[in-house]
Amino acid sequence: MTEQVSGRCFCGAIRYRFDHKPLAVRTCWCRDCQYLACGNASVGAFFRRAGLTLEGEPAAYVSQAASGNTMRRRFCARCGTHLFSEAEARPDTVVVRVGTLEDREIGGPSSIIWAASAPAWAKLDPALPVCEGQPATPPEPPPG
Ligand SMILES: [Zn+2]
Ligand SMILES: [Zn+2]
Repeated sequence: MTEQVSGRCFCGAIRYRFDHKPLAVRTCWCRDCQYLACGNASVGAFFRRAGLTLEGEPAAYVSQAASGNTMRRRFCARCGTHLFSEAEARPDTVVVRVGTLEDREIGGPSSIIWAASAPAWAKLDPALPVCEGQPATPPEPPPG
């Protein structure tokens, strides 16, 4: 059975494929993500860049995150969908916006980060580990 994971932007101008399942999935409540996720947390799935096949040319916006990381966020210039988030310090990893996955069921979060900047009405899953800010270590691949 194939391990392939595919996805696209809202309009379909950008399409992608990975040759492996997500290494980890995080829900992020940082202030930047609340802009990009329309008020909610973003849900980001970590993949190895080496396994990425990309069709189309996403636009990019580079900014410095609260973590101090320089982030390159890539989106479709036609429909505005955010697809990828890339930390300059971790060029081997691509974080995919889970809303763009064909199979969103594989994008269930394994942790919550930047909980301290979530609004008071935010619903944080009590079953997940929570980090108030940026976690010290990169996410570990899920067991199995
Ligand atoms: Zn698009
Ligand atoms: Zn964030």
